[in-house]
Amino acid sequence: MNDLRDLPSVERLATQLGEPHELAVAAAREAVASRRRQVQRGDGSATALLEEAKELFDRLRTPSLARALNASGVIVHTNLGRAPLAPSAVEAAAAVARGYSNLEADLDEGGRGSRQMHVRDLLRELSGAEDALVVNNCAAAVLLAAASMAGDGREIVVSRGQLVEIGGSFRMPEVIEASGARLREVGATNRTRLADYEHAIGESTGAILRAHPSNFRMLGFTEEVAVEALCGLGVPVIDDIGSGALAEGMPVLGEEPGVRRSVAAGAALVCFSGDKLLGGPQAGVLVGGEDPIARARSHPLARAMRIDKLSLAALEATLRLYREPRRAREEIPVLRMLQAPHEELQRRAGALTDALEAGGVTASVVRSACAAGGGALPLLELEGPAVEVDPSRFAAADVAQRLRLSDPPLIVRLRRGRLLLEVRTLTDDEAVEAARLVADAMREAGRDHGPG
Ligand SMILES: *Cc1c(COP(=O)(O)O)cnc(C)c1O
Repeated sequence: MNDLRDLPSVERLATQLGEPHELAVAAAREAVASRRRQVQRGDGSATALLEEAKELFDRLRTPSLARALNASGVIVHTNLGRAPLAPSAVEAAAAVARGYSNLEADLDEGGRGSRQMHVRDLLRELSGAEDALVVNNCAAAVLLAAASMAGDGREIVVSRGQLVEIGGSFRMPEVIEASGARLREVGATNRTRLADYEHAIGESTGAILRAHPSNFRMLGFTEEVAVEALCGLGVPVIDDIGSGALAEGMPVLGEEPGVRRSVAAGAALVCFSGDKLLGGPQAGVLVGGEDPIARARSHPLARAMRIDKLSLAALEATLRLYREPRRAREEIPVLRMLQAPHEELQRRAGALTDALEAGGVTASVVRSACAAGGGALPLLELEGPAVEVDPSRFAAADVAQRLRLSDPPLIVRLRRGRLLLEVRTLTDDEAVEAARLVADAMREAGRDHGPG
């Protein structure tokens, strides 16, 4: 087809695509327009118009944000949505999504309340802090903390070893600048002593900020000042601990700074994430003294960072689980995965291998190691069984790409020319699903590459 007159009408093409008609028309219109441009360019490499329209139609009909299977072994995987929620958190979010709720209704008095009331007491109880405030993520919490403590142009004192970058665009010096505060660097990259802080603080100091170097570790000749010593200097301390380890009885969290410790030390504001090791929804939590929290709450930025009702419901449900530490460890997926028993992983790996073999795929149980992810516990290696898949005559990277594009997408690891499926980050049901997806992807590769 190389003549504009040969193009079918949008309406006729749309009827061939099916329902919903509005989307079929949109897809047909785009396909015809693209073909018209092609013909005008004199490009005669005609691909089947109907095929192209079908592809566009499928894309329009399929949601973009959707469930995926994580066989990467990275528990808090930012690209894959960080923390899966506990069942009670999912239910809580669904319940307030379906209908109206008492989000900001004071049911006793019949007037307006604060959405913060749903989590404030829980956070006070769990952290030991005088007061609490939640916003939409930890980056916002840190910005709000800096703005409310020193946004009038006063200084925030930070160790040069803590001017960290937390993923992409969140760099401590830039966050402080954006808050309206001035950054006062102290110490050296590898060593900062209490005396360095002492020399730097004065009239113009608004706060000391401590940032947890979440996603890396410095080894060797290093020194940092403990939160207790910093709090003894008589200047308000903002402690950005990142992940916010709140679980009790979990030695695996040992390396992470705990919320309670910073609160007990007397930090003015402690900031942490809702969807890292806490295992809840995206949220930023501030806990601390009555006065600093009141200042943060009344800062104009607080309104712009307001947490939404779905996240708030899920956060409340997650925090409620922390009241019963054993339940928290069993029901919060991130905590479960961090300490999954070897027998459970072994059983899942065995089942996945059997299902793959039954689908004609060569697989075996091997040893591997998972990571906490989310910038937390960067040195932790959670050893355990994983499933290695022989991609047969196909390139492992090619099969991995097919798996990413499957429905649902399956994210795997590559190791020494093989595919590696970590079972720690899959549920039992997902492992069954993963076996089917791998078998399908291998069949598809066979079709595309022809008989080998
Ligand atoms: C992850 C992290 C943040 C940002 O948290 P988000 O919830 O992703 O906004 C800030 N500070 C530290 C130390 C972190 O580890």
